[in-house]
Amino acid sequence: MLRIHTFLALAALLAATTLSAEISFRRAPQYSRDTVTSSRYYAVCITDPGNLAAINGEQVRVYKTGAFGRELNLQPGDNRVEVTLFQGTRVETKEFNIYYDNTRRFDRPAPQPEPELEELLFYAETKENAALQYGTGTDRLGGSKMGYLDSGIVMKVTGVYANLFKVQLSENRYAYIQRDDVNFSSKSARCVNTNNIGISNQVDFDRIRLSLPVRLPYASHTELDPTTIVVDVFGAMNNSNWVTQYNDLEMVDYVDLRQVESDVLQLVIKLKEKYSWGYRIYYEGSNLLIELRHAPKNLPSIKGMKIGLDAGHGGSAPGAISPTGLEEKTVNLKIVRELQKILEKKGATVVISRTDDRDMSMTERKKIFRDADIDLMFSVHNNAGGSPLVPMGTSTYYKHIVNRELAATVLKHMLELDVPNFGLTGNFNFSLNAPTEYPNALVECLFMSSLPDEEMLADPETPKRIAEKITDGLEEYLQKVAESKGIKSDKKKDKDSKKDDKKKKK
Ligand SMILES: [Zn+2]
Repeated sequence: MLRIHTFLALAALLAATTLSAEISFRRAPQYSRDTVTSSRYYAVCITDPGNLAAINGEQVRVYKTGAFGRELNLQPGDNRVEVTLFQGTRVETKEFNIYYDNTRRFDRPAPQPEPELEELLFYAETKENAALQYGTGTDRLGGSKMGYLDSGIVMKVTGVYANLFKVQLSENRYAYIQRDDVNFSSKSARCVNTNNIGISNQVDFDRIRLSLPVRLPYASHTELDPTTIVVDVFGAMNNSNWVTQYNDLEMVDYVDLRQVESDVLQLVIKLKEKYSWGYRIYYEGSNLLIELRHAPKNLPSIKGMKIGLDAGHGGSAPGAISPTGLEEKTVNLKIVRELQKILEKKGATVVISRTDDRDMSMTERKKIFRDADIDLMFSVHNNAGGSPLVPMGTSTYYKHIVNRELAATVLKHMLELDVPNFGLTGNFNFSLNAPTEYPNALVECLFMSSLPDEEMLADPETPKRIAEKITDGLEEYLQKVAESKGIKSDKKKDKDSKKDDKKKKK
């Protein structure tokens, strides 16, 4: 009994405090600086959902998250911001001050001295998955990558630049490699004659084997129309006097050898199909293997496909944080879980990189997908930036031109969510767009930083709706692939059989 009385007393006390409490109000952390150096200022605040709000006398929309905001044009010095909140019949006014320091507008951090390239001469051997960079650039995604190399490849180092070594690929080609990606080598790099080359069908992929006496550096890219994979092998002199083609090949039409420079042998691999399903280049002993994945068996059906899904960030890396505190890592995983449900229902096997809230490096994520031998991959993120007061919308990204159509088709369907088009971005130097082993695309679903986008992301139905649109995009892509192979879709088969029925009836 005593307990019940205590409880009732406590409840009465709580009700009383609630009644006398002020209307909930706080400034969004991202916009809570009191001194700013730009005249354009976003006053972004948060109250309880359902309240009404005005900023400096003008009513603004309060989103379902409780967030609201207005763009203000500040005068130099002190600027008073007055927020009026309405809750039922109650009205309260909150005030804060923003100091606009226009004298600091042109303050820029002093430029850092550029590191200098120092000449050096020694040999280094690659570790597994060493990244080759075109140049010395460093942005938040790292320098633009030429590609990745297998381990045990010896190259001449001719210089050092900050944390990069300049390496010689051939007489006229060089690249940069992270210092951490190589070990010193007692061997030296040399130009070698190639041996025989053969192509065979290995059930799930076509394999090209180039016999070499030592492991040489290589770089590759895919050309479209006709779909052709070009592999440059540096330090190789053509001594392969024939290309043996074994049993029936599924993906490779032919391989042509071209000595494009005295020490660069180019393998031009013409595909039979319009759509590539990716390729993997690695060494077995000193033999270079290029494996080209066959198309999934049940096209245009998703059934039987192995699809990789990546939820961006995780653990100590929350990604972007919305004005009301929604974390990107959580939203990304929700979308990925919904996508997993839909794809599994359609008969796909789904491989997820991050299954819960944990830290995971890009290398770990790529290893999970490579080890699982997936057919295709989506990385799911949500963006940040721009104005918080307008819908910012959706965008997709690819690195290799061969993945452009996949990214474009997914974007087309994401736009059915009736959100702005933030664009299709190519040559995107994002680590998970780098693998050539399987088609892949990055989806930046919406903007965490935009109040209307945030409202949409906070809606429990949205992750499912986004997952459905990504699936629609994938299905349309698979449909295009199937049509290019002359496979009729189930829908078309139905139409055709109905036509046949009509004919029969006639
Ligand atoms: Zn992100």
